[in-house]
Amino acid sequence: MAPARDTFLVFGSPLVEEDEVNEVVGTMKSGWLGTGPKVARFEEMFKRYIGSKYALALSSCTAGLHLSLIAAGIKAGDEVITTPMTFASTGNVIVHTGAIPIFADIERDSMNIDSVEIERKITKRTKAIIPVHFAGRACNMDAILDIAKRHKLIVINDAAHAIETEYKGKKIGRLGDMTSFSFYVTKNIMTGEGGMVTTNNEGYADRIKVYGLHGLSKDAWKRYSDEGYKHYSVICAGFKYNMMDLQASIGIHQLKRIEKYAERRSDIWIRYNNAFRDLPCFIPSEVENNTRHAFHLYTLLVDIDRLTTNRDGILNALYNENIGTGVHYTALHLHPFYAKTFGYKRGDFPNAEFVSDRTISLPLSAKLTDNDVEDVVVAVRKILGRYKR
Ligand SMILES: *Cc1c(COP(=O)(O)O)cnc(C)c1O
Repeated sequence: MAPARDTFLVFGSPLVEEDEVNEVVGTMKSGWLGTGPKVARFEEMFKRYIGSKYALALSSCTAGLHLSLIAAGIKAGDEVITTPMTFASTGNVIVHTGAIPIFADIERDSMNIDSVEIERKITKRTKAIIPVHFAGRACNMDAILDIAKRHKLIVINDAAHAIETEYKGKKIGRLGDMTSFSFYVTKNIMTGEGGMVTTNNEGYADRIKVYGLHGLSKDAWKRYSDEGYKHYSVICAGFKYNMMDLQASIGIHQLKRIEKYAERRSDIWIRYNNAFRDLPCFIPSEVENNTRHAFHLYTLLVDIDRLTTNRDGILNALYNENIGTGVHYTALHLHPFYAKTFGYKRGDFPNAEFVSDRTISLPLSAKLTDNDVEDVVVAVRKILGRYKR
């Protein structure tokens, strides 16, 4: 039988428009390619979008999470609580500081970290919580901020999926102590590679700035500008985590279209939810009241008890229909490094494992045409129908 479409539909393909192409070319011709005026402009725009006091542009969300932990003073022997339903970097950055990643299980419906589980994992070594706003769905911030306040913990949001996400009328980037965002190619808006941290705390902002550029004293990036040579001092052993003007040239224009792109993804998300209700799968739950979902991922949980194959069988069948998919995520505690180093094993986090064994992410990008979306719908209905028990 012919596949659902003739050409392969790439998962997470970004929409690149003329304005950013021209801006990149302009930046190339300006001669100032590194961190400079366009990064400053992108930070200003982003800060205004989020409503935070500070926004610091960086090379990635991973860099932002790492610097946030450093700014918060996290060090060897500390414990940081996060979700196992996340990308590797959320856990890796904790390890980089010498702290121990302590996972807390998720809620099965929201796929977000369960605040009851967070509270159960707190010890006298706990210093911080990293909530991941999975797929763009807001975590229960009232509960998390209350726990943090009672136990004097720092809250660092992993908002790689969640630029547009709101909780009770506030952007996630205004809640907690620091929030890290990603502009990786597959994210809601992209700069190729790139990230941003928002905070309302001047001390954190200063430390992120200094630690993100070799530990050089503030504004050292201006040292080659036409304002005359500026001496810098090295005040700590920092990292090389700055964003380039070339990247900001893309971000400036992507950010202008963030709402347009979000609306398109929202329409596709609703279309998928309506199309898959009767199939052997669990569709994403309704968006919680008083929140805004950023619709970064559409994750379908295939109901393996009602199928004659497993999740990977469905992934392969969709691939043969020319539909690209993703898996967000294989629970982090099941990966060899985390299992070996920290003794995590299957059975530790049943809800995360439930999702991990069943999840499939379908294409959800502003680049998709109506025909692309219909191809995905046809393919998913065909494949889940074929393997239905
Ligand atoms: C993409 C992603 C990251 C890492 O973002 P980079 O900008 O690639 O470093 C971190 N956490 C989550 C949840 C992500 O999806």
